[in-house]
Amino acid sequence: MLKKIVLASGNAGKLREFSQLFSTWDIQVLPQSEFGVEDAEETGLSFIENALIKARHASRISGLPALADDSGLAVDALGGAPGIYSARYSGEGANDERNNSKLLDALRGIEASARSASFHCALAFVRSYDDPVPLVCSAQWRGRILETPMGEQGFGYDPLFYVASEGMTSAQLPREVKNRLSHRARAVGLFEAMWREQMAGADLE
Ligand code: IMP
Repeated sequence: MLKKIVLASGNAGKLREFSQLFSTWDIQVLPQSEFGVEDAEETGLSFIENALIKARHASRISGLPALADDSGLAVDALGGAPGIYSARYSGEGANDERNNSKLLDALRGIEASARSASFHCALAFVRSYDDPVPLVCSAQWRGRILETPMGEQGFGYDPLFYVASEGMTSAQLPREVKNRLSHRARAVGLFEAMWREQMAGADLE
């Protein structure tokens, strides 16, 4: 019987990415919407806590093992903001453009050397909603916030996130390069290693 897990997200790109990864282990990844799971309230104070809250919520309602991710941008000069509030940084009606312009305002007058930042991605997997030993990992991607946006690709804060090793923003990077270097790619790599070590052959329903 094909094993199934639920992805605590409605994002089609993430579903595709995780479906591919789990197909290696003959595991089918289903979106939480198939089980009528609505978004959980993200009451955690870190990416890891929120990923875990989302995974437990999806597992409780679907009755299946669940996987969740949480990601965002932490700017050192802003004490880690926007952090877990990255998607809704500019408040009611937040979108990428408003979030980016709020970030530029917050960093006005701060010189290049003090504009360091990192993208973070946390992944959490639970076998059941009350799993006492969830698989959790997180990874980061270091960069610097520019003073003006550059590049058309990607989403979110990509046009402001300068990646020194590549000499361009993450919105200028070819997609396959971003998919190799990013916080999400690194977290998935860590998760894959953790899964191989702890879960290969595990008895999922
Ligand atoms: P979520 O975890 O998919 O909800 O992402 C939270 C927010 O973090 C997004 O809405 C973006 O603003 C930001 N973010 C996360 N990952 C990236 C990225 O790879 N590029 C740009 N922004 C990102």
